[in-house]
Amino acid sequence: MTAQIIDGKAFAAKVRGQVAEHVAQLKGAHGIIPGLAVVLVGEDPASQVYVRSKGKQTTEVGMNSYEHKLPAETGEAELLALIAQLNHDPKVHGILVQLPLPDHMNSDLVINAIDPAKDVDGFHISNVGLLGTGQKSMVPCTPLGCLMMLREHHGSLSGLNAVVVGRSNIVGKPMAQLLLGDSCTVTIAHSRTKDLTEVCRRADILVAAVGRAEMITGDYVKPGATVIDVGINRIERDGKNKLVGDAHFDSCAEVAGAITPVPGGVGPMTIACLLANTLTATCRANGLDEPQ
Ligand code: NDP
Repeated sequence: MTAQIIDGKAFAAKVRGQVAEHVAQLKGAHGIIPGLAVVLVGEDPASQVYVRSKGKQTTEVGMNSYEHKLPAETGEAELLALIAQLNHDPKVHGILVQLPLPDHMNSDLVINAIDPAKDVDGFHISNVGLLGTGQKSMVPCTPLGCLMMLREHHGSLSGLNAVVVGRSNIVGKPMAQLLLGDSCTVTIAHSRTKDLTEVCRRADILVAAVGRAEMITGDYVKPGATVIDVGINRIERDGKNKLVGDAHFDSCAEVAGAITPVPGGVGPMTIACLLANTLTATCRANGLDEPQ
């Protein structure tokens, strides 16, 4: 293996430490405690794990965590009423509705009901528009975590060729916007892209967000490139459950200059960025300086 491993777990711990310090200052100087409300509808096992983990890390950095667990058959109107209540609650600075929602709910409608200033996931149409036009916004946590790791590894990203494989609203598109904001030359690839291997092999930065276990193999990687693996796929191998990314780690690591592992790469950074966004939302709501 030649690639340097980008340790998302260690970096996330550092980010959480910085957030915790800032939270302590807010509390000491202003008596303000940031509050994050997480809403979970239904019993999707993966979502339950994420919500538990988010709640635990929220309290660990000194913030208040408010969990709202609703049964799968909850009506959309009831969920919208809860969001309206959280929008008006001064103790709540960030609101996250765990996706996916049950089929009978319109996710766009629900997400757009969140006060954009409290939309710590950055999925509200206002925040999407602000990000797209380079204005101050709430930035989606997963791509933000990827960008922070890339900046830490490369310093400046200016002029680098970046290929993002995946065009979802929650990962691929905002990732591309962020890379463009850092002056990369950006290509967004997807399931209809022709000659995907060739396209990927031009990338100095290759972001895999396809939702297909180990699809991006070493053949897709330019020697020395940085591979950011967003994927989280649970598979069974040799009779055991395993978590793997959208990149095939061993073959990519033979060719890449640096790579994020799964687990321990993008995943931990996502939650750290959620906490950082909640802190930012709290500072903005109180007219205080934002953390850098
Ligand atoms: P989506 O399923 O919403 O999007 C997948 C994208 O990949 C689509 O744009 C699709 O193209 C594209 N794609 C699918 N198959 C291919 C293919 N064979 N060749 C090229 N492109 C393809 O997934 P998400 O964006 O929500 O998530 C992507 C991955 O990231 C998943 O593994 C998910 O689990 C993970 N994830 C991880 C998070 C974290 O915290 N680490 C957070 C969120 C997601 P098309 O649009 O044409 O269909």
